[in-house]
Amino acid sequence: MKKHNFSAGPSILPQEVLLKASEAVLDYNGSGLSLIEISHRSKDFVDIMERARALVLELLGLEGKGYKALFLQGGASTQFLMLAMNLLEKRAGYLNTGAWSEKAIKEAKVLDDIYEVASSKNANFNYIPKQYDIPSDYDYFHCTSNNTIFGTQIKSFPKCDIPMVCDMSSDIFSRQLDFSQFGLIYAGAQKNMGPAGTTLVVVKEDILGKVSRNIPTIMDYKKHIGSGSMLNTPPVFAVYTSLLTLEWLKGLGGIAAIEKENEKKARLMYSEIDLNPLFKGFATKEDRSLMNATFTLENENLKDTFETMLKEAGVSGVNGHRSVGGYRASMYNALPIDSVKVLVEVMSELETKA
Ligand SMILES: *Cc1c(COP(=O)(O)O)cnc(C)c1O
Repeated sequence: MKKHNFSAGPSILPQEVLLKASEAVLDYNGSGLSLIEISHRSKDFVDIMERARALVLELLGLEGKGYKALFLQGGASTQFLMLAMNLLEKRAGYLNTGAWSEKAIKEAKVLDDIYEVASSKNANFNYIPKQYDIPSDYDYFHCTSNNTIFGTQIKSFPKCDIPMVCDMSSDIFSRQLDFSQFGLIYAGAQKNMGPAGTTLVVVKEDILGKVSRNIPTIMDYKKHIGSGSMLNTPPVFAVYTSLLTLEWLKGLGGIAAIEKENEKKARLMYSEIDLNPLFKGFATKEDRSLMNATFTLENENLKDTFETMLKEAGVSGVNGHRSVGGYRASMYNALPIDSVKVLVEVMSELETKA
C-alpha cells in the first residue's frame, strides 16, 4: 500500500514523476541508453539541463530580468559558504530564525564578521522577528524563508536596499512571491523539487563580481554561469527528475495553482490542531508555515495509541525534529490533500478515544 508520506526531506514526489524518472533510468526516451549512462555533454542531456534552467526562471517569473539558474551539488549546506565567498566583502546581516539560519551564519563567519539583525532564539524559534533594521552599507542580507524544523515561514519580506539572499530549501515553488526582490535564492532539491543530489541556485548576475577575494573555481557562481551549469559533471539524475517535477508543476498551472492547494491543505491541518484539545501548535499562529506544521500531543499517555493509529492508517514521516519534539506534518507540493484528510481523521478519532 502506498503510504501517506509527510516526510520533511527527502520528501514526497509526484507519482508520475517517479514513474517517468524510473523509465529514464532504464531507457531514456527510447534511445536504448539509460539517462545515467550517457555523457552529460550529449545533446540529450544538455537539452535537459537547458530546459530545467529555463523552466525555473519561467515558473518564478524571472525570465528576462537578469537572473541565471544553476543546478549545483553539495546541498544547501554548501551554499551557506559559497554565497558568502561570492558576496561577502566587509559585512553581512543575517536574520536568525532557526537551526538552518544558524548554520548559514556559522559558515559565513569562517570568512568574516557577520551581524545578526534579529533572532527568535529566545523562544526556541517559534516566531519570525518583524522589527529590525538592515544597514544599507552591508554587502547583503540573508534570511530563511521557511524554517523546516520549527514550522515558521516569513510571510512578508523586509524592504531591502542591498541584495537579499534567501534559503528557500523547503518552500520554493510553493507560493507566489515577487521573486525579483531577491538577489540570490537557493534550495536543496530534496524538499519541493526533486531527489537529493542537486541544489538550485537562482542568482541575479549583476550582484556578482564585487568581492576582492580569489574564489576557487568550483565555488564561483560566475564560472558556473559561464559553463552553463556544467563546470563539472552535473548530477544528471537529480537534474532530470527536478525537470520532471517542474514540468508537472507547470502542467497544474504553476505556482499560482499549487499555492491554492497548499493553502487548503494547511487550513485543514491547522484547524484540526486548533480545534482538537489534545493537540497544540508549536509556531505562533501568524508565522505558521504552509509547508511544515509542527505540533505536540498534550497528553503523553496517548502517545502510543496515537502512533499505532497513525501506522494503521498508513501515515508516515510525522515525527517531529528532536529540537522541537512532538510531530511535524510536512505538506510539500506533491502531497495530496487526501493524505492530510487521513491524518486529520486519525487526530479527531483519537479525541473520541480520549
Ligand atoms: C534541509 C534544509 C537545508 C539543508 O539542505 P542540504 O541540502 O541537506 O544541505 C538547509 N536549509 C533549509 C531551510 C532546509 O530545510
